[in-house]
Amino acid sequence: MRVAHAPRARMRVVAVVAVIATALARAAAAAPAPLASLDLEVELDPGTRRFQAVATVAPGTRDFRFDLHESLRVTAAAAGGTNLRVRPAGRAGPLLGWQVRLPANAGSVRLEYGGTLPALDRGLDERGVLRGLPPMAATEGSFLPGTAGWYPQPAPLFAYRVSVSVPGDQRAVVPGRLRSEVLPSDGSGRYRASFEFAQPATGIDLMAGPWVVRERIVPRAGGEPLRLRTLFPRELDAVAGLADGYLDDSRRYLERYAEEIGAYPFTEFSVVASPLPTGFGMPTLTYMGAEVLKLPFIRATSLGHEVLHNWWGNGVYVDYATGNWSEGLTTFMADYAYKEHESAEAARAMRLAWLRDFAAVPAGSGQALASFRSRTHGAAAAVGYGKAAMLFVMLRDGIGEDAFRRGVRAFWAQHRFRAASWRDLRAAFEQASGRPLATFFEQWLDRPGGPAVKVAHAGAKAEAGKVRLTLALEQATPAYALRLPLEIVFPGRAETRNIDVGRERDVVALEVEAMPEGVRLDPDLRVWRVLDREQLPPILRQWIVARAPRLVQASGARDVREAAAALGKRVFEIPPRAVSSDALNQGTDPVLLAGLHADVDAALALAGLPPRPASLTGRGSAQVWTIVRQAGPPVAVVSGKDADALRALQGPLPHYGGQSWLVFDGRRALDRGVWPAPGPLVPVQGGR
Ligand SMILES: [Zn+2]
Repeated sequence: MRVAHAPRARMRVVAVVAVIATALARAAAAAPAPLASLDLEVELDPGTRRFQAVATVAPGTRDFRFDLHESLRVTAAAAGGTNLRVRPAGRAGPLLGWQVRLPANAGSVRLEYGGTLPALDRGLDERGVLRGLPPMAATEGSFLPGTAGWYPQPAPLFAYRVSVSVPGDQRAVVPGRLRSEVLPSDGSGRYRASFEFAQPATGIDLMAGPWVVRERIVPRAGGEPLRLRTLFPRELDAVAGLADGYLDDSRRYLERYAEEIGAYPFTEFSVVASPLPTGFGMPTLTYMGAEVLKLPFIRATSLGHEVLHNWWGNGVYVDYATGNWSEGLTTFMADYAYKEHESAEAARAMRLAWLRDFAAVPAGSGQALASFRSRTHGAAAAVGYGKAAMLFVMLRDGIGEDAFRRGVRAFWAQHRFRAASWRDLRAAFEQASGRPLATFFEQWLDRPGGPAVKVAHAGAKAEAGKVRLTLALEQATPAYALRLPLEIVFPGRAETRNIDVGRERDVVALEVEAMPEGVRLDPDLRVWRVLDREQLPPILRQWIVARAPRLVQASGARDVREAAAALGKRVFEIPPRAVSSDALNQGTDPVLLAGLHADVDAALALAGLPPRPASLTGRGSAQVWTIVRQAGPPVAVVSGKDADALRALQGPLPHYGGQSWLVFDGRRALDRGVWPAPGPLVPVQGGR
């Protein structure tokens, strides 16, 4: 299974929030009128896929129009004891439109409807689950997405109560507060649970499955206790420590973000296992693929991201018409924050990964951040996640940690359970920092691409015991207003200063203590921009995804060659072509050179390539590295002490696409990293 190997790209979570038309959302959020409401009683039998429901809808309007999935039919409608006619009202894809007129004195309508739901599509992959899904049922798991038309939605924002009944060992859940629960052992043979969502919701997702439920009640200072749950199928629940680990970590994340942003707005949080490779964050729960939940790093990364979506996306809603800020802010405060906590290098590696993904987007096809709605393809993710998260890195660098935190808290306090936009975020940070941020937000939101800045000239002159450093910086039109970290390199040391630029050509003068050797722009990658090739060190992903990869055998022994060939098949997504060692200097397609240590060293020397890096020599049972070269095809090397050492890499190596080099002991990666690439040092002229 390759699911683990690009969790960042593939598992990324989409808040399942129905796309709300801005005007409607704004009206609903602004008007103090009573919230539309829905009361649902649902009977679901996943084995036969039969679905029956009674809905009591208070739409807040007499002419009520709603959509139902084509598998469902309305069988009765009544208000205040009077039967009503429900008329068809068009079709949009698999959704059938219906309309009913409420009598003048009736605030609500009672609808009975039902049908046989489509079967669970077991073939759906990570991409498939990101598209609009129908309501689906099966004994191993049922998923009725909020956008699938399985209930009559009263209004864009509404409050709901759902009672659901499922047979035997099935359990069911919808986002919200658990009001009551009856187990099948009580005699009915059915599980019944009732949920309430009193805040304005944008949709309802219903999930059911053959789950074992574990629960922990956690006290909260100044609030109701939290009910934490895992809903895992039996074999997942049986994995030693797994469910407990999820409960512990959920609690940790909930407490962290309550502290950082404001109190958790709900009373429950559940980790729910899905038979599909989903990774969805919904209010009060996350719905993740059972296979994904087993992966060791999910608790350290995706779980926190999901928990945080209870604030961003499901706590403050996204005003989609003006762009989706929630993925960027969630990525910044979850995934990126965990890297910052790990180390400065890990955080830089994540910024580099964002900039690398952005550099891979063909020039001219880039989209502006303001037009990002949801992740539908890689280029959109590079902007909607990477650029958006970097916007927050730059914003915090610009206004300072304290103002940033105040801005985040104020944004939450002002917009809980309302739709908010980038403009609202800007206002919160302007207020918190006391600075106008229009230029900052406009250039990063409205313009596609990014700045490409370079030092055109650097000169220095000694003046009265000091040194005056003068820089000419150039960027393309129209210029960005940037605060750029500038590394000034002296013999034996370096210091960093921030410089401000804003025109196609800026001349900046600085006073320094000694004569510098050179300068480097933003070596730590804190500013979103188009990176030079020198700042993009080769990583294994370039080999993994190669369209016509090639394999060069360094060794002659048969068992070694077989081990290398088998490894090549596992590492590359397309099986490599076996070629001679001439390929190391010919063609343009990526090459993997594999064999035993001595043979690899000999092949590198013969091809005139750089030798084994000293930092790897003699370590572990196998070493893997990419070669940095100015010309010739990209070359990566796998070098083992014996055939077993190469065989051992088949499982783990494909998971390390983000690395430039690794040291393995058997299957275990002892050490790994990305080659440093601080960018070119621009020499300082004159004055010496
Ligand atoms: Zn997300």
